[in-house]
Amino acid sequence: MPAVVQFGLPRLAGSEMPELSYYLMLFAALAAAVTALGYSRTPFFERRPIICLALGLGLWVVGMGNAIANSDTERNLISTYVYFVSYGLPLLYAAVVTPDEPTTASRRLVDVVLLALLAILCYLGVRDLKDEHGFLMSAYEPWVALAFDAENAILFLVFLVRTLAATDEREYRSFKVVTVFLGIYALTAALHNHVDPGEASRAIAAVMDTLPVLSFSSLICLLHGHRRPAAFDPARRLGMRHLAAGFAPGVLLAAIFAFSVGIRGSKSLAGQLVLALAMLMYVIRVVQTQFWLAATRDRLVKALATVERMSLLDVLTGIPNRRAFELALGERLRESVRDGKPVSALMIDVDLFKRFNDSRGHLDGDEALAAVARLLAGSLRRPADFIARYGGEEFVVLLPHTADDGAQVVARRMNRSVYDAALTFELGIDQRVTVSIGIATTDELDGEDLMRRADVALYRAKAEGRNGCRADAGRPVAPLP
Ligand code: GH3
Ligand code: MG
Ligand code: MG
Repeated sequence: MPAVVQFGLPRLAGSEMPELSYYLMLFAALAAAVTALGYSRTPFFERRPIICLALGLGLWVVGMGNAIANSDTERNLISTYVYFVSYGLPLLYAAVVTPDEPTTASRRLVDVVLLALLAILCYLGVRDLKDEHGFLMSAYEPWVALAFDAENAILFLVFLVRTLAATDEREYRSFKVVTVFLGIYALTAALHNHVDPGEASRAIAAVMDTLPVLSFSSLICLLHGHRRPAAFDPARRLGMRHLAAGFAPGVLLAAIFAFSVGIRGSKSLAGQLVLALAMLMYVIRVVQTQFWLAATRDRLVKALATVERMSLLDVLTGIPNRRAFELALGERLRESVRDGKPVSALMIDVDLFKRFNDSRGHLDGDEALAAVARLLAGSLRRPADFIARYGGEEFVVLLPHTADDGAQVVARRMNRSVYDAALTFELGIDQRVTVSIGIATTDELDGEDLMRRADVALYRAKAEGRNGCRADAGRPVAPLP
């Protein structure tokens, strides 16, 4: 009776009912695989992790079937190990595919080929470890058991991170179910592989034999009990998401390293070739990721520049908005004070504009505002001059390096420009659109005071009959001849 137990350890040699435990485990794993496959189609779970789990369990079932089929022969049982090890490969695939990177067809192909190469590497690595009957040499048994422990523990940890990194309920629930199963499986498998019931009662020995059944049946219960997980908060798990996206290539590289342990140092040309191919697939995968990251970064930089530009422009008039003005005010004041030059500000308000809207309608009003903005902006001559829509039908102008007299010249030019455009409406001054302007000048850094004085001057200009400008502390400014 060949001594192949669940993980190929010949501990059960001489036991009285090993085959019964084989069948029990086989049917439990099969039931778990079928249940998982069934649940993968429901809206409760995300398809990929659950289907990959079903696939992994399928390989496990094949491994156990292989062990049972060969239980009374002396045929090579190395393939059983390969199936048991390969059980983790679909799960590894589910873990390294993160929502942070698009799963394109080429990415899927690279991943599947890489995982297939890992299975081949595993086969090539263990085939030299068999004795003349095709069984694993006993000297390697503890190492193989440890390798299974390591595989189970790593899969559990990787899925734990993916669970904590989940961005929605379905993803969280799916990875949580697989993680809990992997945890129970890792524990029961370790107990099964390492704890020898020795002379203990037959009942204890029988329980030990079938321990992995516990993990498969708990998986079926977990899948059935798809309750809403409590207190799901993806925002607090941002660090985990970054970790999950970041560790995927690392886990694959570690897997290549681990799976190539058996062929390292051997003269097997096939082994070296498969290892080289696996590395090539890995490199292609990394290049895909870097390519996508670089393209995404460029798209983001472009989008950010557009958003920044848009956030500083007024939609209606196309000139800078209030936010841009607030930024410009501090900047222009600092520059001028540093150069020891004054800054002037103009506060401009369209006259009787409520009447314009009331008589001509808001759409015409909008058009008139855009026209006024163009006329005002066209009256500025220096590149450093700045105009913005302050709000409603109010505009503001900053004139760096400009004293009061220069600001008055610009203000008069603006009055004239709007007046001459003759945007007619019956109830306006001279039946047309006009503006009133308040002027203030400073050589200090206090922007708030500057704008307050310009506003006071504007109200004076309004009080003095509109369609004119008024300097902060001076006489009314005479219009241009
Ligand atoms: P005054 O000469 O005293 O400034 O009179 P006014 O009617 O211009 O002043 P008031 O502040 O009473 O009204 C401003 C009007 O400007 C109110 C609104 O009808 C108009 N307005 C403000 N923003 C817009 C806009 O974006 N589009 C249009 N069409 N009208 C606007
Ligand atoms: Mg106003
Ligand atoms: Mg007005």
